[in-house]
Amino acid sequence: MLFGALFGRGICRCGSASDAVPLRAEPVPPRHGGDPALGPAFGPLPDPQTAWARYTAGPVTIVYTLDAAAHPLHALPTALAAPPAGATACTVAGLELGRIADLAHPAHVQSVALMAAHSIEVFRGLGFRVPGSLTIHLCTFGAETGATYRGGTEVWLDHVWVSTRLDGADALLTVAHELFHRVQYLYNPTTAKTSPLYAALREGGARLAEDWVLDSGDRYLKDGIEFLGDPGRPLMHHAAPGGEIAPHSYAAALFWRWLCEQHGEIPRGSDFGHDVMRTILERMSDTSGYILQDLREARGLVAGAGHLDRFEHLSLADGEVLSTETDWGNFLVANWMHGTATPTPDLRFDYVEDDEGGGRFSRKRPFVWPGETLRAETLAAKPYLFTIPPGAVRAGFAARYTVVDLAGAPPPLLQVDFAAEDGMVDPLVQLLLVRRDAAGQEHLQDLIRSDAARWTRFVPTADLAQVVIIVAARERAGRYRLGVSAAAGRAVLHMTPWNAAPGTSFETDPRAGVWPWTSPDLMLDGDHLRLRVTNRGDAASGTLRIAVDAQGTTPDLPLRAGAWHSVGEASLPPIAPGASAQIRLPWQAPRTPAGAKGWGLRATVTDSASGTRLVVLSSVGNLTRPQRFDAVL
Ligand SMILES: [Zn+2]
Repeated sequence: MLFGALFGRGICRCGSASDAVPLRAEPVPPRHGGDPALGPAFGPLPDPQTAWARYTAGPVTIVYTLDAAAHPLHALPTALAAPPAGATACTVAGLELGRIADLAHPAHVQSVALMAAHSIEVFRGLGFRVPGSLTIHLCTFGAETGATYRGGTEVWLDHVWVSTRLDGADALLTVAHELFHRVQYLYNPTTAKTSPLYAALREGGARLAEDWVLDSGDRYLKDGIEFLGDPGRPLMHHAAPGGEIAPHSYAAALFWRWLCEQHGEIPRGSDFGHDVMRTILERMSDTSGYILQDLREARGLVAGAGHLDRFEHLSLADGEVLSTETDWGNFLVANWMHGTATPTPDLRFDYVEDDEGGGRFSRKRPFVWPGETLRAETLAAKPYLFTIPPGAVRAGFAARYTVVDLAGAPPPLLQVDFAAEDGMVDPLVQLLLVRRDAAGQEHLQDLIRSDAARWTRFVPTADLAQVVIIVAARERAGRYRLGVSAAAGRAVLHMTPWNAAPGTSFETDPRAGVWPWTSPDLMLDGDHLRLRVTNRGDAASGTLRIAVDAQGTTPDLPLRAGAWHSVGEASLPPIAPGASAQIRLPWQAPRTPAGAKGWGLRATVTDSASGTRLVVLSSVGNLTRPQRFDAVL
């Protein structure tokens, strides 16, 4: 639905009273029943008590006042104070919520009670724990001079509050939002607002839950548009103590929504994977607050291969990569590629609700700083070297996008140099190789990912329209240097990693088909191993030295670093630019350990001219892989 009607009414600062001030290092001290100084929003009802009325229907009680003399800040406005004209159906934003018949209370009050009852049943139906009863104060926040807060609650309150300004869909979304906070408290009543994921999970989670109650609400998309306008903000992870936080924490709903779409029991189904959010809340139930390790473990428990934010290495030192599939990386690619088709062919890089809101979200891409849209044809004269200031990727789980446009007469190769500097110890950098077809449609031709702190890559430009460089922080943001320059006269060797489609450098979508744990360029073919190398560069390679190693695995003895045995060595003559070469080596499975049913393979290809080394893993038979590092033991 269109955003304007719902979002023209001011900001939502609904999480809590203390969201209005910067976070403190200490947990906010709970005061059961709230602070009287904060009024009926975050404290007990002020006197005179007789001026407050109560309406109870089933598990829901609404507390309100019509007495503008006693409570001028909190009395329902005249437009919302009238009782129903008789028994009427209550329909809000197209949802039939029930009937309103009590002539002793305002129709609005009864409507809010039905909104709450409906929201409770929605969350219960999705398998969440729900509170047995709910009290709503209809009031405003403090004196609310110029404030436009919509509602709020806190762990130590026995109620939520909803602004007297709201009715219709606005009221329903806020009721659903505050109720979901009460759902969250049933899993973990932490008040550690400085725990790293606190704001993102509490506010982003509640923003997402609104959409489960009213699918046309789509407020998470509006937050998402704002987030894409400044992707250098921390989306999820806020370093304690203090520091910037709120209101954009609500934008984390975009990430949770995408995570639910990707990893729900029914992938990209219409039920949007509530089971993913349920699993997250269940894992976050200890006393450590909302921490990253719990989120990683939750990710390990839901459907789909891959990890939250970390590559899996068998041996970092030897370049043996088990997986580069991460949600954080895929989400950043989705933010760029979504909306490039309907749907975008690789569903990891799309959103189910892309085209809601008149397509505003599908057309929105992450902000690129004007100086970081580069033209490749000018790079030969003016290489690009930029040191990102420490504040540019401002905290954990933030990113910065640089675009290299390959129109005109680009050099045959781009050289990309990356170095993480002060503070950034766990970067995740992705190069999107984007092709454009005759109709102007963009396609992700390849995706190169690295989690190393310092590297150089050469990217052939033929057939490409654009290279997009996404530099992302994970837990530790900081400074980095990025260099992009023209290059030529080099061999660029490629072998397809395991679980990737032929000719690409990234794993296939694990929800589209189970990973085979083989490389199309290193496979058993009859009684031989077939190995293939392609030169994507613009100059011939040197002679290639090839070494193939193997190791047997059993369920008790999984694939491990340093356990390789040589099963063959060979050499290949130089490969011309654009050509592939292939070699066959006789395969004799190593006989240790006894009873092995699957074997890991490792090919190491070294260009004798440049010294460049490629390492690719593959397997024969039923490989036993190491246990996930984020496994819940
Ligand atoms: Zn909230």
